[in-house]
Amino acid sequence: MHQSKKPFYKLLKPLREKFPDLNIFENSVVSDDGRHFFMIRDGLETFLMVHSSEQTEFSGENISIGNLKLLKCRLIRENANVLRELFPFTKPVLAGKRNSYGLGDRLGNAGGAHLKAISGTGFFPVLAQQSIRELERTGRTAEDVLDAASWAVFREGYHGGFGADGDHLKTTADIDLIVNAGFTMFTIDPSDYVVNEAAGMEDAELQHHFKNLPWDQLQDQPEDFLYRTVGVTFSLNAGFSISPSRKEIYTGMVKYGRVISHTKKMANYLRDTYPGHPAELELSVDETDQPTTLFEHLLIVSELKRLGVELVSLAPRFCGDFEKGVDFRGDLCQFREEYRQHLAIAKKYGGYKLSIHSGSDKFSVYEVIGSINEGTVHVKTAGTSYLEALRTVAEANPTLFRQILVFSNNRFEEDKKSYHISARPENIPDLKSLKNMELKNLLDHDDTRQVLHVAYGSVLHGQGEVSVAFKKQLMETLTENEELYESNLKQHFERHLMPFV
Ligand SMILES: [Zn+2]
Repeated sequence: MHQSKKPFYKLLKPLREKFPDLNIFENSVVSDDGRHFFMIRDGLETFLMVHSSEQTEFSGENISIGNLKLLKCRLIRENANVLRELFPFTKPVLAGKRNSYGLGDRLGNAGGAHLKAISGTGFFPVLAQQSIRELERTGRTAEDVLDAASWAVFREGYHGGFGADGDHLKTTADIDLIVNAGFTMFTIDPSDYVVNEAAGMEDAELQHHFKNLPWDQLQDQPEDFLYRTVGVTFSLNAGFSISPSRKEIYTGMVKYGRVISHTKKMANYLRDTYPGHPAELELSVDETDQPTTLFEHLLIVSELKRLGVELVSLAPRFCGDFEKGVDFRGDLCQFREEYRQHLAIAKKYGGYKLSIHSGSDKFSVYEVIGSINEGTVHVKTAGTSYLEALRTVAEANPTLFRQILVFSNNRFEEDKKSYHISARPENIPDLKSLKNMELKNLLDHDDTRQVLHVAYGSVLHGQGEVSVAFKKQLMETLTENEELYESNLKQHFERHLMPFV
């Protein structure tokens, strides 16, 4: 498509004269054979404007400004579909095995700032990223998430390609939902098939479970498996090797055998049901009770490789604590040593990326990974962008921020249940003693961050009219203070990204 911005500025002139307050997103302007497309903010809503003598597929309202005739289109699903057809750069593409960054955006308004923050870092942005759990908690659909990313890309005039990650998919129905929405990255979460108890089993019990693994689905026999693993030293590069004991082999296979067969089943389903759909697979075992041992990692990927499942990334559960919304807690030296060995395994079995889940605010971990400077990485963040939204609210609408914090605090006992966090709400400073201008400092306070973080679902969607009111006010505040919001997001992501650059 021929694209040129210059001639269009003539057309913008009457628009600007008539509506001096109209916010035109200049990076969005696309001119093509006499047709012009651009985005504006009118009041609190963003629109796509089309100037064309011929009819387009977009639907909207015809408006005239002087003798300038324009179609003013709401950012609805139908228009997003037309946008992706007409402008392929607004469609997600595969990330492949290059460094990439997941920029989950639970509110659907952070994409522009995310793109600005990531530009020049060398990371491929995965702009649309939401887990099934997040979709349920925010009351959004996978289509909503992708549409927000496509509009952000168009608004910023960004042509560099972006990814769309359906995170933590547990069933084939989840795959259907994510394919139908147009996503291209599929993060398989087989955690329901992990047998955590294996670690505490006696030999006889282990043997029993081992024998009863779904060997036909694994296209394997117990004897063959043991022949391949017992007494074997797996040598990796960088001088590392792994020599698992018999006990480790049985325990590892009992714990992860069904994870392997389930992952194979999910991968086959995706390939066979949607043969033409561009797709890449991540496997996430980050939500298990215990850290993934090096042998367990090797076992999972070597068996998947044997079964023909190719991964673009794998998320082990690393040592230490990756709690939501705060920095890593644990032994960084141990993390460094294990990370290097996980990398050596990844290198040997396909060169996939190591994926860091719960990646929000793990600054010290990024220093370590950045300093190792080997292999490739994928980082997933989401909650931290919600917290930057709240930092903006704390600055711009203190009354709303106080209400959200009190509400989140009241929800804490309930909302923390599905998370691994250690926040203590009693450590949150007394709100009454804080001046409005001090509120934003609460976003640098770990206990407050976690209390706010885990309540996002209740604030945005979970509590009927209360949530509807919160979400409306939150979105309005962020739109009215977009510059502040973008600068908060940008600054915060620079902290995430700098250690890698
Ligand atoms: Zn995860």
